Amino acid sequence: MQFREVIGQEHIKQRLVESFNQGRVPHAQLFSGIEGNGKMALALAYAQYINCQNRGENDACGLCPSCVKYAKLEHPDLHFVFPVVKKGSSSAVSDYYIKEWRQYLLQSPYISINGWVNQLNAENKQPQIYADESTSIVNKLSKRAYEAEYKVMIIYSPERMNITCSNKLLKLIEEPSPKTLILMVSDTPEDIITTILSRCQNVAIPPIKATAIAKALSDYKALDEKSATRIGRMASGSYLRAQEMLVQDEDEQFNFEQFRSLMRLAFQKNVLGLKEWSDIMAKGGRERQKQFFIYAQHVIRESFMANFRTEELNYTSPIEEEFVSKFAPFANENTVTGMLTQMEDAQFHIERNVNAKMVFFDVALKFTQLVVKKG
Ligand SMILES: [Zn+2]
Repeated sequence: MQFREVIGQEHIKQRLVESFNQGRVPHAQLFSGIEGNGKMALALAYAQYINCQNRGENDACGLCPSCVKYAKLEHPDLHFVFPVVKKGSSSAVSDYYIKEWRQYLLQSPYISINGWVNQLNAENKQPQIYADESTSIVNKLSKRAYEAEYKVMIIYSPERMNITCSNKLLKLIEEPSPKTLILMVSDTPEDIITTILSRCQNVAIPPIKATAIAKALSDYKALDEKSATRIGRMASGSYLRAQEMLVQDEDEQFNFEQFRSLMRLAFQKNVLGLKEWSDIMAKGGRERQKQFFIYAQHVIRESFMANFRTEELNYTSPIEEEFVSKFAPFANENTVTGMLTQMEDAQFHIERNVNAKMVFFDVALKFTQLVVKKG
């Protein structure tokens, strides 16, 4: 990870680079701030920078052997400690899950504890940094660096560290071996044990600026400017949140297009087209199918209300707005209850695992009767 790959946070990058160039590398630092603001990305970029063999003024080179190993998170002097779950009664340390961890982090360094729990398939278990980890930490930090100038240990979610482990770590922080850097990364620094907290240099990472998130969305996700700006503003400084919103947007877009197709085909009484439509819809997962019916109820209600409201409504997209205004006369007092009941019933049947093709086709046929303009 290079600094240039980190979204926004120019001020922090500059501060980290400057302090390093002035010879200041506090041996225990805490990168704290809200989830999804790029703390881990910054920690990785910083560690890569200070170990780069061909360091530029503001960033690592990205090409030297150290950078190449860092990019794969496989540098022998880069260690990770993170919460894990116990399977059975066996001990559990980070090293057992290093493969999954690398995979997770390489997808995106904008991580969350929930995301990590999913990666671990841990479902209801709360991951922790167990007492077993302390031996491993001591071993790693007491050895000399293999090849790098700085030996780095990144500790993710130190607030989840067992007390025995915390105490061992405390000793290492108090009497560090030279050229050792411990970087802690935490969403909730207030939960870190105070003895550790007080011995770390805090690097408070602010939320990412909305403009930086918007730029990243248009650069990396090819999002149009308007949507990128909107999501950038609504993401509250978290790129993780922005990505989630993007997925929601895509789902909503899909549901909108399918709803529009259904209404068109029903209006045309195109039974063959409706059959094809049902087959397409039946291919999605149950959750997606359910979401479609929930979305459909929303659009029907909005359309019905549009018959009475004069003020401007806040739609997700101009296309939806245009559609609602055209569809409104069909969702009138004679039809709206029937339309909503059909969608509710269909949702109910999907939740109870009724054959999806039948549910969709049944709804489709009912709508050929329901899509009647108010005369
Ligand atoms: Zn380099």
